[in-house]
Amino acid sequence: MRHGNLFVISGPSGAGKGTLVARLLREMDDAWVSVSVTTRSPRKGEVEGVHYFFVDDAEFDRLISVDGLLEWANVHGCRYGTPRATVEEHMARGEQVVLEIDVQGGFQVRASMPEARLIFIEPPTLEVLEARLRGRGTETEDVIEKRMETALLELSRKMEYDIRLVNDDLDEATAELVAYIDEQAESN
Ligand code: 5GP
Repeated sequence: MRHGNLFVISGPSGAGKGTLVARLLREMDDAWVSVSVTTRSPRKGEVEGVHYFFVDDAEFDRLISVDGLLEWANVHGCRYGTPRATVEEHMARGEQVVLEIDVQGGFQVRASMPEARLIFIEPPTLEVLEARLRGRGTETEDVIEKRMETALLELSRKMEYDIRLVNDDLDEATAELVAYIDEQAESN
């Protein structure tokens, strides 16, 4: 059994973080992904406790006040946070704990847990990123513009991450992600 470790995965929306994390969970027996709490409303197909824990503002405030969140941030007008207790439980069990969170949250995690490793997922180009956002077909022009702006902000901080993985070919990016987590977990 390996020691528990904490990994933050960030990158612009459309870089393919979700798909990569899903692949990672299939390939690594001791990997576990944290489910965040959010004040945003569920999208079609999203399931309570699987994609997020959907809460109202009062409950989010309560979680902050009892120090129940390891980090939290405001993203596109809604609040998102990582429940502290479950992350600690899974790390104590020797699991490789993954947080799929934005860059603001990533740096908060680094400040409180310097041993956490920060992984940045990059799209091959900005054109590819925009095409992926449009390809989803679910977002309005306004939302796409807002997401591209946020993407540029997030990309401007990628050099502060411990490693950057370009998600051009999904198989290759998955292999790189698995290799990095294995390497970190085994050096511990
Ligand atoms: P979405 O609303 O598209 O699911 O997520 C929007 C953004 O919020 C994504 O960049 C995602 O990584 C980020 N996010 C999701 N959960 C958390 C969290 O617990 N903390 C932080 N800081 N960001 C999160």
